Amino acid sequence: MDITPVQSKNFLFKAPYRIKEEIETISAIPSEHYLIELEACGLCHSDLLWMAHRSKDWEKIGHEFGGKVRHCGDNTSKFQPGQQVAVKNAAPCGVCDHCTVGKARDCGDVIVNKSGFNQFFLAHERSMVDAEGLEGSLLGLVEPLGVANDVLKAAQIRPKDRVTIYGLGAIGLMAGWLCIQKGASGVYGCARSSKCFDLAEQFGFKKCFKPGEINETISNKILVFAPPGTLKDAVTLLMNDGLIVIAGLNDSDWDHWVPFNFESLIFKRASIIGAFGYPNLFFEDAVEQLKSGKDSLRQIITHQISFSNTPGLKEELLQSPDCIKAVFINKQAKQNSEVNA
Ligand SMILES: [Zn+2]
Ligand SMILES: [Zn+2]
Repeated sequence: MDITPVQSKNFLFKAPYRIKEEIETISAIPSEHYLIELEACGLCHSDLLWMAHRSKDWEKIGHEFGGKVRHCGDNTSKFQPGQQVAVKNAAPCGVCDHCTVGKARDCGDVIVNKSGFNQFFLAHERSMVDAEGLEGSLLGLVEPLGVANDVLKAAQIRPKDRVTIYGLGAIGLMAGWLCIQKGASGVYGCARSSKCFDLAEQFGFKKCFKPGEINETISNKILVFAPPGTLKDAVTLLMNDGLIVIAGLNDSDWDHWVPFNFESLIFKRASIIGAFGYPNLFFEDAVEQLKSGKDSLRQIITHQISFSNTPGLKEELLQSPDCIKAVFINKQAKQNSEVNA
């Protein structure tokens, strides 16, 4: 479908920490797609890794985002102009043999969306989730909260579980918050830096500590969002028959090996399983959780940065050791909504 051409300001990234602006003209919407104006995009640790050394050539990296529908293409039915939506970073087809048995990782038809630093972008209906009524900046937390849900599902968190969270970044904090909502009887937090301890305790964490500070068995489940080197420490805290779910990647690209005393695992009859929230299947849940938990969860966003200031990203973030989560806000979209209202 042809439309009146829209000029979109997009930002592309290349290691080390280079950002360039590009103007894209969008003059047609493919079938089953929508034109969306960005409202918010979160920046996460893996973005920083891409920016630091993984992006060998100019590319898009924004994958925690959402916006307002501005135009509906042909053969669309679910969303209306003006509607706020979260965009899935990866949307499996949902109908193939793999998807229908819950193995979406093996889907051969995943749509990948990384347009979170595009002022306007096109998205397939399958990639979109209704987020009407959600505070705009919280669109930047939908994807990471979906990852937290994925890890909780892998850990089968139940009421009365005693859980320790390793790594208190945005996902770790949200995972702890979710465990508390699900009735876990004691949630502990462990992190190298104490910057998030106050917020975690405000969320209802029982206690926060640094690695090595506690050496007794306090948890039957441990969720690891920190680099895998923490596994050694995590096994110490694990009760008999306990479970560790590990979702934390290393800071570096080279050190993926973790030596630790395997006998402690055997004698405790413990399990370690890996989790990887991709494709992320919990967007709908995350939107609802963000609506109900907004008063707590919005505090995770320590930095709201204007989308137009994206080129200043490096300086802003590197200078702020207090940053838990930065979300880029397209103020223009907000103004356009007010004009439309
Ligand atoms: Zn991310
Ligand atoms: Zn599929």
